Amino acid sequence: AAAAKRVLSIQSHVVHGYVGNKVATYPLQLLGFDVDPLNSVQFSNHTGYKTFKGPVSNEKELVTIIEGLEENELLGQYSHLLTGYIGNPLFLREVGIIVQKLRKANPKLVYVCDPVMGDNGQLYVPKELLPIYRDEIIPLADIITPNQYEVELLTGKEVRSEAAVWEAMDWFHKRQIKTVVISSSDLGQPGVLRAFLSQLNGPRLAIDIPKQGGKDLVFTGTGDLFASLFLAHSHTCEDVGEVFEKTIASLQAVIKRTVAALPRGDGPVKACERELKLVQSKAEIEKPQVLLKAQRL
Ligand code: ATP
Ligand code: PLP
Ligand code: MG
Repeated sequence: AAAAKRVLSIQSHVVHGYVGNKVATYPLQLLGFDVDPLNSVQFSNHTGYKTFKGPVSNEKELVTIIEGLEENELLGQYSHLLTGYIGNPLFLREVGIIVQKLRKANPKLVYVCDPVMGDNGQLYVPKELLPIYRDEIIPLADIITPNQYEVELLTGKEVRSEAAVWEAMDWFHKRQIKTVVISSSDLGQPGVLRAFLSQLNGPRLAIDIPKQGGKDLVFTGTGDLFASLFLAHSHTCEDVGEVFEKTIASLQAVIKRTVAALPRGDGPVKACERELKLVQSKAEIEKPQVLLKAQRL
């Protein structure tokens, strides 16, 4: 029988710091999920440091792991599949086959897909991933969490206005994706990140998030943390607005603690100093205090 709350999480692993499976596992566990992390890479640290080293997993290794789970009749146990950073087209194509296997083993499987390809106009995966995400992977997903640039890549249209956001959302809904969340965009007021959510035959929502930490400070792992929190709350919470609010509330608390711990002075902030204060934020992950409310549009 399918476990009520067990996630197969296919993402990157970093030895030091918090992105990918390292940032997703702890919050999912705190919120009551068993987590089975399957690592797409094992890097020393995230790619925003001056160097990073470590092996990238290939599709053969992925197939072997899934074979092991399959032979032990474990595939039916998953209530959720979560995928994030994947750097290799053949690996991504194999993920499509795995989604179908998991669905066959548990028809109620929920697939949460973060189609990680780039940010701020910059691609950071091979361009061959785009058509695979667009034509093979996204149509299998229940919930997707692209950023503004990834929406532009997938839909083939610029997203420079709120009207364009809703048009893009409908492009995804036409492909039967139930929930689309753009976790941040530059369409808010100066100094404000505006996040959007649209549900097929459901509400259109937005949340304005005052930017923390100054304009040159970038956090890494926040997109991955967003997807894991959203998955967890969407399982227990009927109201999608509440899911959206709780996700952002925990994220803001983690970022606030991270900013508070930054060294004083105005020298450049090192990558290791910007690592999220994740384990220190246990209370705010377990019991998010909603301060930023969703607007219904
Ligand atoms: P991905 O690249 O993984 O697809 P993304 O680029 O949209 O996602 P982020 O820009 O990191 O991811 O935003 C994710 C969430 O992190 C936002 O919804 C917001 O809550 C939070 N966040 C990120 N940066 C900041 C910031 N400077 N101030 C406040 N909140 C932030
Ligand atoms: N995985 C790896 C290995 C990374 O280097 C990064 C970002 O640098 C990420 C995942 C994604 O981070 P984010 O959640 O900020 O999009
Ligand atoms: Mg990002």
